[in-house]
Amino acid sequence: MRLILLGPPGAGKGTQAQRLTDSHGLVQLSTGDMLRAAVKAGTAVGLKAKAIMDQGGLVSDEIVVGIIADRIDQPDCRKGFILDGFPRTTKQAEALDRMLAERKLKLDAVIEMQVNDGVLVDRITGRFTCAKCGAGYHDHFNPTKQAGVCDRCGSTEFTRRADDKAETVVPRLKAYHEQTAPLLPYYEGRGILRKVDGMAEIDEVTRQIGEVLKSVKA
Ligand code: ADP
Ligand code: ADP
Ligand code: ZN
Repeated sequence: MRLILLGPPGAGKGTQAQRLTDSHGLVQLSTGDMLRAAVKAGTAVGLKAKAIMDQGGLVSDEIVVGIIADRIDQPDCRKGFILDGFPRTTKQAEALDRMLAERKLKLDAVIEMQVNDGVLVDRITGRFTCAKCGAGYHDHFNPTKQAGVCDRCGSTEFTRRADDKAETVVPRLKAYHEQTAPLLPYYEGRGILRKVDGMAEIDEVTRQIGEVLKSVKA
C-alpha cells in the first residue's frame, strides 16, 4: 500500500502516519524528519535547508526529490509506504509520478486531512516529541499519560522543533495554500483523493483513515 497524507502543518499527518506504521507495518517517509536529521548531522543538504526551514519556507524541489528517490529504493519500503509532508509542490508530485512509473508502482490513495486554519497555531505551538523514539505529543490535546514520561518507550527526554513558533505558522500556511493545496485537484482528477475530518479527535481520525484503507483494498 502506498499512501500520501496531505494537509497543512499541524493537521495531524505525523501523528496518523506513526499510528499506521504501528498498525499496518507501513514505513513512514517524512521529508520534514529527514531534513531535520540532515540539519542535525550538519550535512551539505542540512546546511542548505536550515535557514529556509527556520523561516517557514519550502526547501528546493531538487533536494527533497533526491532524498525521497534514495529512500523508496531501500528494502523496508518494498511492502509500501506513507508519504508524510511530500509532495508539497506540483513539481514534486510530477517527480513522484515519474519515480513510481519507472518502478512500476502505483499510488493507492491520497488522504486529505481537512483542518481549519484557526486551530493550527494551537496545534503547532503545543507540539513536542520524544527524543528517543520520536512519538508525537501535544501539551493539551495529546499529553503523555504520566507527566514527563513517554508512553511508548519510557524516555524522559523530549524535544520541540525550532520552527514550531506562532511567527513561522503564517509563512508555513501561506506556502501550504499557494504551493501544496493545488495538489488536491491534481489527485482528485485521478480519482484517488480521499478526505478525512482532521478536526475530529485523534482516534476518530484514525478510524476514518482505517475506513479509507479498507475501501482501497476492497
Ligand atoms: P503534522 O505532521 O501534520 O504537522 P502532527 O501530527 O505533528 O501534524 O500534529 C500536530 C500537533 O497536533 C501534535 O502536537 C499532535 O499531537 C496534535 N494533534 C494531531 N492530531 C490531532 C487531532 N486530531 N486533534 C488535536 N490535536 C491533534
Ligand atoms: P509540518 O508537519 O509542520 O508541516 P514538516 O516536518 O513536514 O512540517 O516540514 C518542516 C519543514 O521542512 C517545512 O516547513 C519545510 O521547510 C521543509 N520541508 C519538509 N518537507 C518538504 C517538502 N516536501 N518540500 C519542501 N520543503 C519541505
Ligand atoms: Zn519515546
